[in-house]
Amino acid sequence: MTSTTPFWLAGRQATSGEDTLDVTSPWDGRHVGTVAVPTEAQVEEAVAAAYAVRAEFAATPAHQRATALDHVSRRLAERAEEIARLISAENGKPLKWARGEAGRAVSVFRFAAEEARRFNGGEAQRLDTDAGGAGRLALTRRFPKGVVLGIAPFNFPLNLCAHKVAPALAVGTPIILKPAPATPLSALLLGELLAETDLPAGAWSVLPVPNDRMPALVQDDRLPVISFTGSDKVGYAIMDSVPRKHCTLELGGNGAAVVLADFASDADLDHAATRIATFSNYQGGQSCISVQRVIADAAVYERLVPRVVAAVEAQVTGDPADDSTDVGPLVSEEAARRVESWVDEAVQAGARLLTGGKRDGSSYAPTVLADVPEDVTLAREEVFGPVLTVRSVTGESAAFEAVNESAYGLQAGVFTHDLQAAFRAHRALEVGGVIIGDVPSYRADQMPYGGVKQSGVGREGVRFAMEDYTYERVMVLTGL
Ligand code: NAD
Repeated sequence: MTSTTPFWLAGRQATSGEDTLDVTSPWDGRHVGTVAVPTEAQVEEAVAAAYAVRAEFAATPAHQRATALDHVSRRLAERAEEIARLISAENGKPLKWARGEAGRAVSVFRFAAEEARRFNGGEAQRLDTDAGGAGRLALTRRFPKGVVLGIAPFNFPLNLCAHKVAPALAVGTPIILKPAPATPLSALLLGELLAETDLPAGAWSVLPVPNDRMPALVQDDRLPVISFTGSDKVGYAIMDSVPRKHCTLELGGNGAAVVLADFASDADLDHAATRIATFSNYQGGQSCISVQRVIADAAVYERLVPRVVAAVEAQVTGDPADDSTDVGPLVSEEAARRVESWVDEAVQAGARLLTGGKRDGSSYAPTVLADVPEDVTLAREEVFGPVLTVRSVTGESAAFEAVNESAYGLQAGVFTHDLQAAFRAHRALEVGGVIIGDVPSYRADQMPYGGVKQSGVGREGVRFAMEDYTYERVMVLTGL
C-alpha cells in the first residue's frame, strides 16, 4: 500500500481521511504519488489562521524573515537532485530542465531573503513646499495588502510556487498556496522546508483544493490578493468574478523570435537556430515564453529556416528520466491530441509541414510549419506544445508589426547586433519583456516579469511581487 502525502495546514502536516488525489507520470502513466485533499473545514481553518496572524506576521523583524528564507534556499540546494527527480516524475519534464528549475527556486528564495533585508526603508517627503504644508513631513512605508491566495500552474510546479510564496514571506504577509492538480508533490515538498523554519503558524499553507471548490476560496473576503499563474481563460474568469480584489495574472503567450537582416553571418544564423530549436521544445513547448513564432527578415529567411529545421530534428525526444533527453511528453495525452488537432487544422488550411507533425500517446514530435494562414488556431492561440511556425517579412517595421499582431504580449526575442534597432524594438514591441540577442524564453528570476494584452496584468520577479503584495501608506507628522 502506498502512503498518502499530507498537505500543509497553517504550517503543519494534515490529512483529511477523506478525499485523495492521484498523481501519475505523463510519460508512462505510472503512479507517482497520492495526495491528501483538504476538507472544506480544513480550508476554512487555514484561511482563518492566515487572517488571524496577518498583523503579527507583518510586524516580525525583517532579519527573522530573511533568515527563514535563506534556510529554505539552502535546503532546496541540498535536496536539489531529489527535487528535480520529483518535478520530472510528476510533470514529465526532462531531468536536465527539472534540475534547472530546482536551481532557480534556490535563487528565488535567496533573492527574497536579500530583498527582505532592504525592502521598505521608507521615504521622507517635505510638505512645506506648499503653504498648507508648513511644519509637516510625510513618511511613506509599504504595508501588506492582506493574505495572498497563490494559484500555480503545472508547468513549473516548484519555481512558480516559489515565485508566489517567497515574496509573500519576505514582506510578512501570509499566503495560501494552491498547486496544480497534476503536480502538487513539488509544492508539498517545498512545505517540508518551510516547516523547518520558525515562521509563525498560519503564515503559510499548501492546499491542493479541487478546482470545483476554488470559487469559494477566490470569493473569500479575507483573501484580498490573488496571485494567479495559468491560462488566460481561468485567470480572467477569476478576475471578473472578484473585480474589487487585487489580482495579478501571469497568463499565456505565443512568443516570437525576430531575426533581423543584420544577424546574417553563418555563425549568427547557427546560433539563432540552435536557441530557437531548444526553446520551442524545452519542456515540450509547455512554457508561457516558449518560442512559437519565428519572424525572420526576407534577407536571412532562406538561410535560417533549414538551420532551424535541422536543429529541431537534432532534439532528443524520449524518457524524461534519461539525462540525454531534450523533449519529453506533454502533460497528458489529451494535451498532445489538442496540439495534433491544431497542426492538422493548419496543414489542411495550406500550411507546409517542414518536420514533425506526429503524435505518440502523450508525446508530440518537435514540429516546424511554414506558410501558416493567419486565421487558423495555431496562428492565433498559445499552442503550449513543441510547435514552431516560421514566417518571412521585409524590414524591421514589418517584423515588429507581426509580433504585435498577436493578442498576447508576454515576451519577444530580437536577434540583432544593432543597438539602435534594439532600442526601437524596446519601444515598438507590445510585450512585458524584450530580449535582445536571444529567444523570448529568457527569464531571470529577479527581473520584472509579466505580460500585457491577453498575457495578463501585474508583475512578478521577487522585488516586483513584493511591491505587488504591498501598498504605500503615508504618515503625516505635524507641528515640526
Ligand atoms: P490552468 O489555467 O488550467 O490552471 C492554473 C491553476 O488554476 C491550477 O492550479 C488550476 O487548478 C487552477 N484553477 C483551475 N480552475 C480554477 C478556478 N475556477 N478557480 C481558481 N483556480 C482554478 O493552467 P495550467 O494548464 O495549469 O497552466 C498552463 C497555462 O499557464 C498556460 O496558459 C501558460 O502560458 C500559463 N503560464 C503562464 C506563466 C506566466 O508567468 N505568464 C507561467 C507559466 C504558465
